Amino acid sequence: MITALRVPSAWWLEDDRLERLFAWLATAPRTFDELALFTSETHPPLPLHLMVARAERLKAVLPQARRLGYGAGINLLAVIGHHAENLPNSLDEPWQRLIGPDGDDSPGCYCPEDPGFQGYVRAVITALAQAAPDFLWIDDDVRLMGHGPVNAPCFCARCLARFAQEVGRPFTRESLVAATAGEATPERMSLRRAWLEHNRGVIARLLALIEEAAHAERPGLMLGLMTGDRFYEGYAFARWAATLAGPNKTTVRWRPGAGFYSDETLIGLVGKAHEVGRQASALPNAVTIIQSELENFPDHLLRKSAATTVLESAAHMAAGATGVAFNFISPDPSNLEEMRPILARASACRPFFERLHAELGRSPALGVWPAWNGDLFAGNGEPDSWFRRGRRFDDLRAPYALGELGLPVCYDGSGATVVALAGETPRVFAREDLEAMLRGGVLLDATALQLLWDLGLGEAAGVRPGASFAVDTLEVLDGHALNGFDAGSERDCRQSFWRQEARVLEPCAPGVEMLSHLADYNRNNVGPCLSIFENPQGGRVAVAGYYPWTMITTAAKVRQYRALARWLSRDRLPAVVETLAKVVVWVRAGAHGRRAAIVLNASLDPQPALAVQLLMPQGRVEHVPMDGAAKWLDTEPASPGYRRVIIPHVAPWSLHLLLYEAGAPAR
Ligand SMILES: [Zn+2]
Repeated sequence: MITALRVPSAWWLEDDRLERLFAWLATAPRTFDELALFTSETHPPLPLHLMVARAERLKAVLPQARRLGYGAGINLLAVIGHHAENLPNSLDEPWQRLIGPDGDDSPGCYCPEDPGFQGYVRAVITALAQAAPDFLWIDDDVRLMGHGPVNAPCFCARCLARFAQEVGRPFTRESLVAATAGEATPERMSLRRAWLEHNRGVIARLLALIEEAAHAERPGLMLGLMTGDRFYEGYAFARWAATLAGPNKTTVRWRPGAGFYSDETLIGLVGKAHEVGRQASALPNAVTIIQSELENFPDHLLRKSAATTVLESAAHMAAGATGVAFNFISPDPSNLEEMRPILARASACRPFFERLHAELGRSPALGVWPAWNGDLFAGNGEPDSWFRRGRRFDDLRAPYALGELGLPVCYDGSGATVVALAGETPRVFAREDLEAMLRGGVLLDATALQLLWDLGLGEAAGVRPGASFAVDTLEVLDGHALNGFDAGSERDCRQSFWRQEARVLEPCAPGVEMLSHLADYNRNNVGPCLSIFENPQGGRVAVAGYYPWTMITTAAKVRQYRALARWLSRDRLPAVVETLAKVVVWVRAGAHGRRAAIVLNASLDPQPALAVQLLMPQGRVEHVPMDGAAKWLDTEPASPGYRRVIIPHVAPWSLHLLLYEAGAPAR
């Protein structure tokens, strides 16, 4: 089950539309393994009588799809509801709506703890199970963050009472908002963690109800959950997968998603791939059907090109998905033919998707790990409300910029050869987790360094944060082996335009070395700003005090960071791009013993001979392009432990799979 097509209800509710759809799909056979039929067009739940009628229709439609060779299942578009939309035709019952931290309610979305609403969910799931689908998808409205117009529910009386029970003291909505707001003191962190645990439970109880209803009616029915990054909900993917599997451990599927709906900013597809990779990394290995979300929502044809659609799909699989759920069919009856370029492109890339699926499996990504865990939301530093949308995930996302320098990033600690700790993220880790990280390779910024000192762990970095400069500094690379011929190169990030404090680093241990210093516009040295230190515990720690994660794309900085990442990993980084080019690379352990590197030219400039260094003892590399035949490429010795492979004729925004024997495991 590699590729699925999600089908709007308008294309299956009536026979003539269904026949047109089938005829259209028949022109590109074997493009999709299965069809997932949406229950509705709009995003709040539908009245029960309508859902029952649609379940009956689905019962007749699903076998028709099966006869054509497709797996056939249902995509329940709304359980609790996504947003307020089409309210006059949606479920309107006197049950509790989701309540936000400011007391406003979400008119289209129900609190999953309301017993009346739970009865409705049970009845809907039972009716859909009676339609005998091969699988039943629960859509990504089963979340708590973002139910327009409400942001971070639920603060209804029932939910507050349950939380009071869980923590052993009462809260009103106002007192809970006040108690969690402000600086992240230990007391507040503990209360925020308790709320995240509460939210994990809200989701788990709803999924348990769905599982019971589905499997009571149809034992063995495969349930699937659609998610995004679920930080406010506590990111309990393993727990929720077990809940959906139920006592009989039925197979569960997953659909990781994120918002990349249009391709005017093409690098966004890489950002989404990282979100998909993160979600896949949080799932147990037993979950093997992971179809990423592929959308041009609201299904507008020219929002996203056919080329982007397939490139993005492959990038999602490079990051951790095992397949793709395409959602590009508009409900508009007039333009089925106009969507043919996407269908044709997806069809042409089908062999490549099969190859990715077979070679990558559920093997972990390897490389630099921007560290996170399921408590990440607790570290949000918004001063007046912990619940407000703010810049709370910027700290997590920032280090993924390293992935645009030709350094592989990974999504959980198991694949990490280097850890990147940015901003406030150290707050959410247990002390022993941080200690373990500091015994390996770690790249820190100055905020994270200060937090480590606050926790009594700063000595492992060998430096303290020193003087700060708000304007008029630039970075100058020092004479050091890791800087090579780039000593003296300058990087000016124009603090007057893009404000960010620059920090000097003060060494406080013997053996600290400096790679860069800050200079003012008279080129006076005002202090070191990039340190490396090998600590007594065997860890290698670097601290970057000047624009550590942004504007790191000068030629000299790219080379410095590539060399630094290699040093931090003790030359165990699984791959690094050698050509000076904007290239994203993922490395996966591989499903059959062969390691896989997936290389994406993230630039409009072609690379006639793209050099990549792979951690491998010897041998050749199988090169599989997205279209065209696989070829074998020779390798040559590069730096110690690494072999250089040259990929010829790398087109702009093209993606390439490299397969090779890596010898001993990287860790
Ligand atoms: Zn509630």
